[in-house]
Amino acid sequence: MTDPALLSDDELVIKVVDVSDCLACGTPGLLLVRYKHSWKNHIGDDVPGIRETLLCPQCSRQNSAAAELIALFAVDEKMSLENVDTFGGLVVAWVESLRLGSVDEELLAAEHDQWQRGAL
Ligand SMILES: [Zn+2]
Repeated sequence: MTDPALLSDDELVIKVVDVSDCLACGTPGLLLVRYKHSWKNHIGDDVPGIRETLLCPQCSRQNSAAAELIALFAVDEKMSLENVDTFGGLVVAWVESLRLGSVDEELLAAEHDQWQRGAL
């Protein structure tokens, strides 16, 4: 399989190769998700956007879904057919929790910094 995205559609892209280091702590990232994320502007209109979030083994830990993903990487560094369903489900759960807004402030700041430098 040459496509680096395990799961790829309009809603969610998961990148597991060539993942950059965490901008907040410098630890190599486990994976990167890119997903649609809309928010309300000051007059209450929905503003559609795309967000990218890195799964960091240090910074993402306080999110329970992310912690399960990190645990999966810890026990099995290679994705297999047996665990790819579990993996996909955990990623979806993690992204849903990110969409709900329980995003670590430090990571948000890091993402903002990345965005300012044109990386997003
Ligand atoms: Zn980190």
